[in-house]
Amino acid sequence: MKNDKGSLDDKKYFDLGLKHKYLYFRRTKIVATIGPSSSSPETLKQLILKGLNVARINFSHGRPEDHLRTIQSIRKISAQLGMPVAILGDLCGPKIRVGRFQNDAVLLKDKTLVTITVDPVLGHETLIPCQYKKLVTEVKLNDHILLDDGNLELLVVGKARGMVQARVSRGGVLRNNKGMNLPDTKLNIPALTAKDRKDVVFCIQGGVDYIALSFVRQAGDILELKKLLRRRKADIGVIAKIEKPEALENIQAIIAAADGIMIARGDLGVELPAKKVPFVQDKLIETCIEHRKPVIVATQMLESMIEHSRPTRAEVTDVSAACLSGADAVMLSGETASGKYPVEALETMDAILRETESYRFFARAGMFRDPVPNRRSGVQDAVSSAIAQLSRDLMVHCIVVVTRSGHTAQVISADRPAAPLIVLIQSEQVLRRLQLLWGTVPLLVSSRLAVDKRIAFAEAYMKGLNLAHSGDYLLMVRGIGDKKADTQSIVIHQIS
Ligand code: ATP
Ligand code: MG
Ligand code: MG
Repeated sequence: MKNDKGSLDDKKYFDLGLKHKYLYFRRTKIVATIGPSSSSPETLKQLILKGLNVARINFSHGRPEDHLRTIQSIRKISAQLGMPVAILGDLCGPKIRVGRFQNDAVLLKDKTLVTITVDPVLGHETLIPCQYKKLVTEVKLNDHILLDDGNLELLVVGKARGMVQARVSRGGVLRNNKGMNLPDTKLNIPALTAKDRKDVVFCIQGGVDYIALSFVRQAGDILELKKLLRRRKADIGVIAKIEKPEALENIQAIIAAADGIMIARGDLGVELPAKKVPFVQDKLIETCIEHRKPVIVATQMLESMIEHSRPTRAEVTDVSAACLSGADAVMLSGETASGKYPVEALETMDAILRETESYRFFARAGMFRDPVPNRRSGVQDAVSSAIAQLSRDLMVHCIVVVTRSGHTAQVISADRPAAPLIVLIQSEQVLRRLQLLWGTVPLLVSSRLAVDKRIAFAEAYMKGLNLAHSGDYLLMVRGIGDKKADTQSIVIHQIS
């Protein structure tokens, strides 16, 4: 695989045929939504063993008490396995949803008239309960109402007695609590609803590592959630779900305010024409990398695996494309939450990522050389890109990161270096949070382990996995981009 310049050429990939090497550490992380199909201890155990990095709990569904139990169960199993997993609590945000139906689902037939009520009743074929009380006053005649990620569509034809009359323009099966989008309606709904505030308390109680906020429109939405967390003395990362055109207009400020973003393609592709989603996704990944903030690509990645044990070729290509563009993480939704093949979906995702990464590493521009972020404005940028460059030039086998807050690891990860980041951490909380970041391998070490012993620790760790031998290079870095750090250093270490 090496040529004398230490880089790799494209032609080599084809010489390697289809039997090229794989990297030991997968760089792109996997987020999976835990729901009825995956919350049993046995399935959770399988998911963690197969490489789950972040477990997502969607507070839009199920009961908060059950979520709390799931969180505790994940913590217990992950501790038993000694495999740390971050937990992401996903808040509904101002998402409008339908209520519940007799037998949990109804078939809406084309061209029929239906009534939408805001009363908490059980719906049926011509009655749709909606959870948003102000719907009737805010919706206008001829507004479109999209249901279930835009699969079904209604047109408002009248309002009477506190209800909305609508004609079904695109019918289909509608299940309990599916989303409702109103792209034509100006909604007067707060970013953090009363339910969200209650769910935040459950998230804090459960000790989640990240909270995601849905339908973010501006940076202020994120700051409001952060204020709430600060008031409750909770140190939890905040992820902005990007799914509204308004968010795209304010994207720089949103990314700066948040601790990461999720490209929530389900609602994004309803609120925007779906054809715009691919390049919006690419641009968002690029912008996040520039800001050194993690980015998750989400929704329908292996959708057909909800029903089938194998993905479509188009889905495989989609997961691979997200990996090629350099996303920190890809996400499974219904595939693991309510699908028939939760473990197979995770295994499939892992396999696609490993295949694509080996291509990104051994061929393409080589060793994760792309994308090239456009920053280089200060010491932090210069040093971090120098580390990435060193990792390629010396074919470094791992980068040992000494950090207290995880910040140094976050900075270096965003330059997508060639070697995995062995991050030696003293706090389990910081360690779990790092699970979301591209290329990190966080390991817990005792605070008594002196800094100069850490490179020996990492060397022994790599040797134990048979991944490093004499003559190979390791880098050790500390204090990069951390204003409070008294020592900033890069050590080049050759194994003797
Ligand atoms: P969001 O826009 O927040 O992603 P969603 O409705 O698309 O909301 P997902 O988390 O993407 O929800 O999950 C996909 C589907 O899996 C949901 O529509 C729901 O049917 C099911 N699901 C997810 N979590 C749960 C849960 N805790 N209990 C029951 N069903 C769930
Ligand atoms: Mg959504
Ligand atoms: Mg979804």
